[in-house]
Amino acid sequence: MNRLKGQNGYCGAEAQPIISSFGPHFGEESVLVGRGGSGTVFFTGCNLRCIYCQNYDISWNRRGEEISIVDLSKIFLHLQEAGCINISLVTPTHQIAAIAAALETAKKDGLSVPVVYNTGGYDSLQTLRLLDGLVDIYMPDMKYADANIAARLSDATDYPQVNQAAVLEMHRQVGDLQIVNGVATRGLLIRHLVLPADLAGSEQIFDFLARQVSARTAIHVMDQYRPCFQVDGDTDLNRQISSEEWIRAVSLAKAKGLFLVK
Ligand code: SF4
Repeated sequence: MNRLKGQNGYCGAEAQPIISSFGPHFGEESVLVGRGGSGTVFFTGCNLRCIYCQNYDISWNRRGEEISIVDLSKIFLHLQEAGCINISLVTPTHQIAAIAAALETAKKDGLSVPVVYNTGGYDSLQTLRLLDGLVDIYMPDMKYADANIAARLSDATDYPQVNQAAVLEMHRQVGDLQIVNGVATRGLLIRHLVLPADLAGSEQIFDFLARQVSARTAIHVMDQYRPCFQVDGDTDLNRQISSEEWIRAVSLAKAKGLFLVK
């Protein structure tokens, strides 16, 4: 699809960036918040279709406003001036060409805080190589280890292989997470949402990280799954995780020696 000719692909993105909101955010991991908050920019649309998406109005329904690349670079600088300790790009993958251009402009104009790439983890190597040197902290989801589950829940059969290749490339670029005075400055931070009935394949994902990425990989094992959006008829997803499921996941991550972050 050629966006410059007005064509739209699966993600629906257009030539100009589309955002839903921006501002200081204090609900992220503590190492990303510090005192000034994380300067989040929420991008509209998504390259995945998770049936339990809590932001479906933004990701599936594409609620947002088109802005110019110059205005996006000004938003980055405005968040820095407001005291945010980083710039966090939320769901950026499908708009990366415009974002990379805006980041280059902002850096020339004085952007110096770390840039966080907060992604569903379905990123091609071609996309990630565009970002080499522009992103300081990669924060990808690792959602599934099984192709059939990825197809059923996010319409992406190849998610596990794409995701694992992406995580390896991210780690190659920035290494393990570095924390200075309680604040993340550079590196890889994985988010893993524990799903009911072990649909997320937690043990396989932790094993991959410990064996193939780094035994010191930083990971946030997340317990906040809530049924929403299109899961009404799904007998697995129509409930929260149990405390036993949560304790099992955290124990497995600890057993692999991973660095747990909250
Ligand atoms: S990757 Fe995140 S934003 Fe995109 S559809 Fe899945 S849950 Fe929603």
